[in-house]
This record gives sequence, C-alpha cells and structure tokens, in this order.
Amino acid sequence: MTGSTEVTGSAGIPGLAETTNEESARAGNVRGAAEATRGRAMSDAAWPYSPGALGDAADGRPAFLTVIDKWPIILCRHRRPMGETPSIGGVSVRELVVLGTSSAVPTRHRNHNGYLLRWDGEGFLFDPGEGTQRQMLHAGVSAHDITWICVTHFHGDHCLGVPGVVQRIARDKVNHEVRAAYPASGETYWRRLRNASAFTDTDVITPRPVSGEVVRWPSGPVTLTARPLSHPVQSYGYRVDEPGGRRMLPEELARRGVRGPMIGELQRRGSVTTPDGSTVTLAECSAPRPGQSAAFVMDTRLCDGAFALADGVDLLVIESTFLSGESALAAQYGHLTAAQAGQIAAACGVRRLVLTHFSERYTAADEPRFVDEVRKSYAGDVVTARDLMRVPVPKRAA
Ligand SMILES: [Zn+2]
Ligand SMILES: [Zn+2]
Repeated sequence: MTGSTEVTGSAGIPGLAETTNEESARAGNVRGAAEATRGRAMSDAAWPYSPGALGDAADGRPAFLTVIDKWPIILCRHRRPMGETPSIGGVSVRELVVLGTSSAVPTRHRNHNGYLLRWDGEGFLFDPGEGTQRQMLHAGVSAHDITWICVTHFHGDHCLGVPGVVQRIARDKVNHEVRAAYPASGETYWRRLRNASAFTDTDVITPRPVSGEVVRWPSGPVTLTARPLSHPVQSYGYRVDEPGGRRMLPEELARRGVRGPMIGELQRRGSVTTPDGSTVTLAECSAPRPGQSAAFVMDTRLCDGAFALADGVDLLVIESTFLSGESALAAQYGHLTAAQAGQIAAACGVRRLVLTHFSERYTAADEPRFVDEVRKSYAGDVVTARDLMRVPVPKRAA
C-alpha cells in the first residue's frame, strides 16, 4: 500500500497498543504513537473499539490519532462558541468528520452514513443516517456546528437521522440558519422526516429542494453546488468550492519596498504608493491562488454528474459499496465499485480520495482490497473511511 493513506480510528483501540498510544499522545510524542500502530495488521478482531475509550491529547482533550501518508496527526475534539470560526492552533478548520460509513444497514463497527464537512465557519452535514445524533456526540460535533443539511437521496441509510438532528437543533436552540438541501422529488419524505414526532420546533431550518441539472448556493466563504447522480431513486451529489484568490510573494514585496501596513493597503486597493513615490500593483507582488474544493458523491452508478462533481477537487468522499467481484450487484442496485471510484478520482485529478458506504458483507480485513482496486488507476491519497475518523482537506498545492 505504498503511497496510500493509513488511518487509525482512535488512540484507544483495544489490541493496538492503546497504552503506548495514549501515553505517546499525552506526551505529544506523535511519532511514537504512530510507530506503535504502524505495521500492525488491523484485523477485524482488533477493531471493535469504544468511542468512549478515546485517548487524550497533550492538552487533555479527547483526541484522535490519524496517520496520513505515514505522518500522524492528532486532532482534538473542539467545540465552537457561537459565531466563532473554528480553528485548531489558530488555523482554520477544513476537515471531514466521519460519523458513519455503512451502506444499507449498520454493522457492529459501522454506523449508517453521516459526514460533517467543516469548512472554516460552515458545517455541511451530509446524509445523516440513523444514529447520527449519537455519533455526533462521540465525534465532538455540536448541533451548533451545522449550517447545512445535505441529503443526497431518500434511501433510509442517508436520511433516517434527519429527525434526531432536526430535533437536536431545536432543543439546543441553534440560532443561525440551517439550510436543508434534498431532491425536490422527495419532498414528501423530507416533510415526514422534518416533522417525525412531537417536539418544540425551530424556525431556523429552511428547505432548499433541488431539481434540474445544476444548482448553486453561495454560503459564507464558499459555493455549494448540487448535481444529479444516477441511482434507482433520484440522487444528488454536492460540491463545495472556495473562490480563487491571490498569494502574496514576499520577495517581490521586499524588492519593491512594500512592507508593514502598505501590504494590507495593496491587498485592499490593488495598488500602493511606496515612500520613494513609485506605484506598485497587486499583480506585481502576487500570484493566482486556486480555491480549494471538496465533493460528496453518494449512491450512484458511473455518470456525468459524478465526474463533474469530482473534477479537480482536493477531497473526494465517494461511495464504494462493492469490490469488482460484485460489479453485477453494483450495476443492478446503482452503486460504484472501488475500481470505479478510483477511475473517477484518476480522471478528475482528485488529491485525496475517501472511500465509504461499504456493504455489510465486508470487514476491516477487506479494506486493503478496496485500496488495491483503486490503485489500478489512481495514485493519490486514499482513505478507507471508518466511523469517527477525521480527514483533513489536503493542504493547498504549492
Ligand atoms: Zn446508500
Ligand atoms: Zn441509495
């Protein structure tokens, strides 16, 4: 699996030298913690873990140990005070929090689907399946973190968690707007889920039914786009795009004598006059910086929409329900194989690929087979998702 992405679930996984991991994590010895897990076969027997047994990071907060490209990252749970841009160490958070990874039915180790994409101050909750509210608790996700609920389609594994999430948003008195996108053809299902039982309702949740070939909504610092997929019931995938900007070039600034407050003025006004009277433009001292992007492609066959959503994204979260040995089933039920997910990622130049929505027939021991299938066409980062994992959006390409 050279070049692939290894990710461990938590520092407290029984059978994975949890004491060593926890001690290492507490001591901030990140490498030591990684060494403790690296090279150990993650058998299914070793996998059952209690989310409550998570280790602690150096600051005492619960943490996950994540190993990406052999570089471990400890990610702390955090709660965002209202109105504050979430950050870890002062860096804006752009990460996927995996709440559930199973297709169709939950298993002992995989909850129904559920994914929160944190993107600066936005929180896109994709496909809250049954049990999502409790998974949020385990993952340190608050109802206040959610600014969008995006449902790809109305099969139960993608929406049975809507009632719990909606009622939690109401109970916790979330006071910002939470927009809800879902296929307009499933309006009846949305209304049932939205009003599934007796509770004190909230008016912050506003529906955004989706129809047509492409729908875009500006949302804070990004744009959310929906495009149709191909599945036995109408299904839409989603994509988040940051607009392009400009990257300042320190050597050009220095060469032209632009320093201190002049830099801010140059960025605001597009030009600045230096003390020697010359005019310096923003174009002379900066270079274009492409925006970052992420896509969420759930239940679908290979189709144009999947490729359009994945085109050039930094992070692609995609279903890979089956291995190629079950490609007839995949075709019959409108799903992707891991090989097809790899083809999409390769054709679209994806930087990090997250496979999920696994059939219950597979165990943790099968995960390398998913990666092997992807590797036939795709050479980038691959993550086989597990519940409660956090996957960072890759750092900006240079
Ligand atoms: Zn599904
Ligand atoms: Zn489905």
